[in-house]
Amino acid sequence: MNLSEMKWCSVPKKSLGQNFLINKGVAKKIAESSRGPDCSAVLEIGPGLGALTLELARIFKKVVAVEIDKDLIAPLSVNLNAAAISNVTIINDDILKVDLEDLFEKEFEGMNVVCASNLPYYITSSVLVRLLESDLGLKAITVMMQKEVALRLCAELKTKGLGAISFCVRYYSVPKFLFSVSRGSFKPVPKIESAVVKFEMLDRPLVETADKEFMFALIKAGFCQRRKMLLNSLSHSMGFDREKLEFVFAGLGINRLARPEQLDLVDFAGLANRLLGDFGFKEGVKL
Ligand code: SAM
Repeated sequence: MNLSEMKWCSVPKKSLGQNFLINKGVAKKIAESSRGPDCSAVLEIGPGLGALTLELARIFKKVVAVEIDKDLIAPLSVNLNAAAISNVTIINDDILKVDLEDLFEKEFEGMNVVCASNLPYYITSSVLVRLLESDLGLKAITVMMQKEVALRLCAELKTKGLGAISFCVRYYSVPKFLFSVSRGSFKPVPKIESAVVKFEMLDRPLVETADKEFMFALIKAGFCQRRKMLLNSLSHSMGFDREKLEFVFAGLGINRLARPEQLDLVDFAGLANRLLGDFGFKEGVKL
């Protein structure tokens, strides 16, 4: 089906990030890129009017598409029917609220699953963190996002301008910048450039830590005040004794003047393990 022939919705909702793909070539490229090893099923977030869904349905045996906007469910179904597509299950729900474990159990029993989405930009980080941290066994997550965010998420650690989410991404996956998408590929035309990133999930996290929540609490505390020295942020916001902290930093070979973006995951894992193991510091944490 040509995308110009698709049933259109009355007024796209800006508040739900509704910039629909009108470039069939881009939809095809995203669908092709989202394949994963032995994966026969895909979870699509925000199918909208179905531009990407149509292409995913041609590649995967099963597509489950979660769309928040009830006004889009009817035109989406019409578009899928018109293309004689019958392997798509549409769920009218908010991806941030839906019980994903339950959904996977019901819909994807025994299947290897990937995720694909032209994500609404306002929820990119929350959705990504939710999927990465989940225990769903996803093999890969391929998403369109704001180009600036895509570049930041794919940058190596210890690069300027990274945030706590970059650590979450690297802990669970290998991010790959696939391609840029011009603004003219959407309707309505967005103000920003877009890009597609594929997160290939690791079989096991990149580093070993005795307590990953604690490690991420340290990372978040550091990046809350990214311009400050990490040692200062940790002692102020988490209530660690400064002298002891200096001792731990020295033992791990971390410069006591280091800012959070100068550390990598191995450093943070070491820090978490040492604070927990040797010093039992967690009890003193003011979270
Ligand atoms: N996939 C379609 C395409 O490429 O043309 C639409 C992409 S549009 C950028 C984002 C879609 O996500 C919209 O259909 C929007 O209604 C939906 N959406 C927004 N927030 C959502 C949420 N929390 N849960 C599920 N879908 C959401």
